[in-house]
Parts: sequence; C-alpha cells; structure tokens
Amino acid sequence: MNRQALDELKQQIPLLDYLQAQDWQPVRPLSGGRWMGLCPLHADRKPSFLVDPGKSLFYCYGCGRGGDVIRFAEIYHDVKFPQALALLRQWRGLAPLLQQVADFCRVQLHRHAEAGAYLGQRGVRSPELIEHMQIGYAPGGSCLRAWLMQSGYPLSALRQAGLVTSLGYDAYVHRIVFPLEGNLYGRSISAAAPPHRLLPGPKGGLYAWEQAWRYPEVILLEGLLDYAVLWQAGFHNVTCALGTHLNARQFQQLCDGPRTVYLSFDADANGSGPQASAQLAHRLGVHGIPARRILLPVGHDPNSFFVQGGDAGQFQSLLEAAQP
Ligand SMILES: [Zn+2]
Repeated sequence: MNRQALDELKQQIPLLDYLQAQDWQPVRPLSGGRWMGLCPLHADRKPSFLVDPGKSLFYCYGCGRGGDVIRFAEIYHDVKFPQALALLRQWRGLAPLLQQVADFCRVQLHRHAEAGAYLGQRGVRSPELIEHMQIGYAPGGSCLRAWLMQSGYPLSALRQAGLVTSLGYDAYVHRIVFPLEGNLYGRSISAAAPPHRLLPGPKGGLYAWEQAWRYPEVILLEGLLDYAVLWQAGFHNVTCALGTHLNARQFQQLCDGPRTVYLSFDADANGSGPQASAQLAHRLGVHGIPARRILLPVGHDPNSFFVQGGDAGQFQSLLEAAQP
C-alpha cells in the first residue's frame, strides 16, 4: 500500500467514528473540539485518553501511547501493521455492504406476503413507518448471497460479515430486517427459530437517537416492534436499546444532556422487565438523569398493548402516571 492509499484509508475512517464503534465514549470536552475519555488500551481509572477528531490523532497520558487510527487498531487488536490495515479495510467495507443488504430486503418485503402478514399481526401498518425504519425482509435460501455476489462481493466477505452460513446459505431466514448503525437486526416470523438475531459485532448506539435526543422527554423501549407501534401512534420521542441491558455507549447517550427518560420495558410476569427498569432508573438517577417507569398491564409490552387495542390516548395516560 503506498502513501496515498494509506492517507485515503485514514480519511475514510475518522478516528472518533472508529473509537465509538468500539464502544469508546468521550467523557470530557476540551478546547478545539478535543475529547478526554478512559483509555481503551490500558486499565484506566480516570480519563487519560485524549482524542483530537480534527487531526484524527490520539494520545494517552497514562500509557504514553498515541498515533493515528492505524496505530490505534494495531495496539487495540494486538496485531501487526498489515493486519491492522486489513481490519480497517474490512470495517470500512461493512457499511456499504449492510446498506446493500437493507436495500435488497426492502424490495423483498413487498414480494413476500408472509412478511406483510407478520407485520400486520404486530400492528405495523403505515407505509410511512416502514419507510422511516427501512423495514425489509430476508426470505432465506441463497437469494441474498446470490444477489450480493452478483454485485461483486466475494463469498469470504459475506461469511465474515455473518450474512452467509458456513454451508453457503443466507444466515437470515424468514426474518423481518431492520438496519441499525453497523449491524442488522433480524426478527424471525417463525415461532420455530430463535426470535432475535444480530450480525456478529456490537449492537451500536440507541436506535434512531439522532431524532430522539433533542426531546426533553425520551421514551426508552426494549424492542424495535415496540418502537414501531409507538412511532406509528405519533410518539416520535422514542428510542430503543435492543434489550434491557444498555451498552456503555447507549447509557452515555441517555446521559449526554438534560432530559427525563421514561422507561417502558416488557411487564413480564416473572418480573425481569420491571427489575431491569428499576435498576436502570436508579443508575440514571445517580448520573443526574430523572427516570420514570411506565407501568403497563402485566404480561404486556408496548407492542402488545397497541396491538390489542390500546391507543395513543391510553398510552399518554400511562405516561402521565409513570412513577419515579
Ligand atoms: Zn492508555
């Protein structure tokens, strides 16, 4: 790789983007748009890792290491220079690949009646919502693989991304597909398969946070089908963590400004949803973010609440009755 190709790679992969994709979080802003945070390269207790997004450089006052995104990948993944380049190239290639998959699946959604029927059962009806969430469908077999290989992707890249099984079949079979930042969530429409699937790699930040963050009150949900029915009912201050356990990045996003967080997790009969929301409410409170828990009828999640006849007015009443 010559100097020019190296510069190009570095330009295409801003250090801050790459760090955040590895779940690094900025803790304290400095002058000139720079950030301090915990060092991902050594066991850091107080933020000693300086990042300059403008220059795409880092330096750690703790372990004394610094450099560009390639240097970071070398140390972080503990690999030599050529392997670091390969990892970065692979990471850079994933976003366009996932976009292609999402586009393909959106076309399939309209070709497979079973997909539309499933969405209907889960209360997803509005074409505007399907467009907003870029909802698609993965039929399975090997149609996705065939289409991507026709578009020039080698089989090895598809395997590496987790899109194709070791036997060469599409990994997502009969799944409703939702594009995420750097991943792809697949919800099985068949009761025989595990319901939730993600591609290997982090689940990313909060869903659609770029829209939700500006509201002074944000409703945090467990799943994308909960998000879908609330958005459709006119609540656009919603986001979703894909589960009740927030990763570091998601938690930091909730805490990145003054807001009240309404938690609406599944009201499981076994108490796991309520327990998770009580713990999260406490953690948010410790970080100065007031949290309120929405109490759904037992056995319900926000999706089933709407599917079984609940409407925006009734949900609004639950919001107003939410408890600290
Ligand atoms: Zn360090």
